[in-house]
Amino acid sequence: MCGIVGYIGNGNVYDVLIKGLQRLEYRGYDSAGIALLTPDNKINVYKTRGKVSALENFCRDKNTESRLGIAHTRWATHGEPTDNNAHPHYSEDGNLALVHNGTIENFKVLKDALQQHGVHFHTETDTEVLVQLIEFIKVQNSCSLLDAVREALKQVVGAYAMAVIDKNEPDQIIAARKSSPLVVGIGDDEMFLASDATPFVDHTKNVVYIDDEHIAIIRKGEPLRIVDFENKESKVSVKQLEWSISQLEKGGYPHFMLKEIFEQPETLRDCIRGRAVADQGKVILNGVLSNSEKFLDANRIIIVACGTSWHASLLGKSLIQQFCRIPVDVEYASEFRYSKPVITDKDVVIAVSQSGETADTLAAIQIARDKGAFVYGISNVVGSSIPRNTASGTYIHVGPEIGVASTKAFTGQVMVFTLLALQIAQLKGSMPQEEIQAMLDCICRMPEYVAEVLKLDKAIQRLSLIFTYARNFIYLGRGYSYPVALEGALKLKEISYIHAEGYPAAEMKHGPIALIDPGFPVIAVATKSATYDKTVSNLMECKARGAKVIVVATEGDEEINKIADCIIRVPAVRDVFSPITASVPLQLLAREVAILRGCDVDQPRNLAKSVTVE
Ligand code: GLU
Repeated sequence: MCGIVGYIGNGNVYDVLIKGLQRLEYRGYDSAGIALLTPDNKINVYKTRGKVSALENFCRDKNTESRLGIAHTRWATHGEPTDNNAHPHYSEDGNLALVHNGTIENFKVLKDALQQHGVHFHTETDTEVLVQLIEFIKVQNSCSLLDAVREALKQVVGAYAMAVIDKNEPDQIIAARKSSPLVVGIGDDEMFLASDATPFVDHTKNVVYIDDEHIAIIRKGEPLRIVDFENKESKVSVKQLEWSISQLEKGGYPHFMLKEIFEQPETLRDCIRGRAVADQGKVILNGVLSNSEKFLDANRIIIVACGTSWHASLLGKSLIQQFCRIPVDVEYASEFRYSKPVITDKDVVIAVSQSGETADTLAAIQIARDKGAFVYGISNVVGSSIPRNTASGTYIHVGPEIGVASTKAFTGQVMVFTLLALQIAQLKGSMPQEEIQAMLDCICRMPEYVAEVLKLDKAIQRLSLIFTYARNFIYLGRGYSYPVALEGALKLKEISYIHAEGYPAAEMKHGPIALIDPGFPVIAVATKSATYDKTVSNLMECKARGAKVIVVATEGDEEINKIADCIIRVPAVRDVFSPITASVPLQLLAREVAILRGCDVDQPRNLAKSVTVE
């Protein structure tokens, strides 16, 4: 979390940095700040609690003339989101200013040691120790900023992407990373650095992804240099960015979330293009095909993920088990990493994260690799840490997702899991070819089905009005619909701050049914499936206790009219595909309820999109 951005070039530094922060704001919005090196080599730091717009207001009457600068949008981990704790932080003598994304685990030890040497600290953050340590080493050793950064980082335990400027060494930004993302953009006579490429995609498509424990030396008029902590030069490998600027704008929608929900027919098309080849009866998932023996010989598949990706992974488990008859476990990456997991070189570990930068998922990958497992990544962001740290993988190809509540990435992940399960089944021969063909035909029609579901927009808007009174919701489902219920509940929690539980429908009678009182809203995902009748019985039990039952049901299902207070009808598809059609109306519902409650749909409180801290 947190977004960092830096710029050196002939453009208006302040404007470039502010625009960059706006693009990175999905990563955190507790506070924002900027450090500008003035033409006469002074550093002006402006920072304030709140969003980037608050920083812009704050800077309105300030001198923003500058030759280079760094900026930050914060998702606080250490210290409240106050003006004082906002980044950039500066060294005691004011010579250095620094921005940081990540957490410094040994900050207390380092801080104590520096305090014993008379260094004064002014904030509660872990970050301040970085800038004070660099300055301390620089003065003690009378060395360059680069050497001080190298030495300081050798002492630091934790995760960071950081950038620092020094008024005594103008025309240079030093940036470094370990376990937090950092990318450099190379333009004509200008360079950018940022947590991801969104701040500079309209300036350059040439990007360099900085590796862990490497330092980027960004100097005016000189080519980019990268060194490791021992000062050994590394090759600068320039990649081409695929994203376009229009993908980063709202395109006429009031919110990114709504735009992203409505993009789903297109993003699903992009996700399946060239992969579901129905006219040849084939699945072509190159990441699996080029490592087929790993999947065919696997004793077990373990999927590690967090949040929405974890819900998609639950569906991945059902799909792989059902299609391929391979045992699958799904773990929260944050639990897995500290659980002393039993993993062998016969296991395949699949790591799933939209951003490809989720800190816990990256840590889980490292453990799996250390134990010799074959690690496969599913992510959205090309060049992010997951594809760079896994043996193989698949991009979901849904384009940049800016709304903090994930929507199109979820359906993209579910689609990739469907393709992956079918690919393994085809290789393994665990599913008859006619069945695979029928699945492929259905996959190719999914974008149309989702487009149908999106036409429910207005009806869902009306439906949401009924529930403005509710302070609690329960979402129920069984089988493939259970992860959909979990995901629906998460969407509501995330953006409307209403408490919502996702539960397997049949488990209600083992406890949660005690919550039901007259008018309690129960949202059931009860599309036609093998467990449909059972789900209906579970809903009767809720209804008998006064619940108001809203059902996501299959078109043509008349039986459901008898118990449902409200019905959202989605096209009839095979039950393995219903998670995609059934999750879309729940995304719309969460958004409508959030709007009615006056919540910030794209930037919900306390959240940030890319969870790059533990
Ligand atoms: N730990 C730093 C702070 O709390 C940076 C947080 C982050 O990267 O999310 O200010």
